[in-house]
Amino acid sequence: MKIVFLSVGEAFDKNFANTSVLIQVKSKILLDCGYSVPQIFWKYNTDPNFLDGIFISHFHADHYFGIPPLLLRMWEDGRNKPLTLIGRNSLKKQIFKLMEMGFRNLDEKLENIIRFLEVKNRIKFNELCFEVASSDHSVNNFAVKIFSDDKSVCYSGNGMFNDETISLYENSDLVIHECYTIDKRIRGHANLMDLINLSRMSNIKRLALLHLNRKARKEKEKIEQIIRQSGLSIFLPEPLETINI
Ligand SMILES: [Zn+2]
Repeated sequence: MKIVFLSVGEAFDKNFANTSVLIQVKSKILLDCGYSVPQIFWKYNTDPNFLDGIFISHFHADHYFGIPPLLLRMWEDGRNKPLTLIGRNSLKKQIFKLMEMGFRNLDEKLENIIRFLEVKNRIKFNELCFEVASSDHSVNNFAVKIFSDDKSVCYSGNGMFNDETISLYENSDLVIHECYTIDKRIRGHANLMDLINLSRMSNIKRLALLHLNRKARKEKEKIEQIIRQSGLSIFLPEPLETINI
């Protein structure tokens, strides 16, 4: 399983685009697509048929406003296979509303291209399984576990972890989690110190932290020192960093 951290920023960081991660097994899945993601994605890959699915964790602009331009360029460039948008039951309504505002009649162009797959607990998509759990965020957010026969990766979307998401993360090969601050507890977000405790208490093999608040990002050295002192397998991926699990 190949993981590409396309972009690792929060909503308003001038130096880092919105968090978006690409999972590549046989199927290619994009996790979230905020307003600053499409350009980064096109620089990475211009094949209109490259993606098989896009998972949307929640309806904040920095996690899904990039969908209309991404889809319109796929159509312009001649996509000829289905693309599945995966998320909660209101996903179709939200995406159509956004497309109508952004590019009128885009829904007609995409009629034969996009499909929607609602996930409640667990669903199968191609060779992969998707399982979701709700985190504590200011709007409904799904953390997701994506697994094949032998590997599993979790992505938090946004939100503080809770019993439900902790049990989703348990025994995963990699957990990709938002880390908004170093030690300040902000409602609806996770911080480094709590994530270190999570990693220590649960059997997570590797923990990648992204979506750092722009002010916390300025203290990257301090963050890396805290991580080193923890002795745990935790890292802050750089944009476009790629790992295999
Ligand atoms: Zn959010």
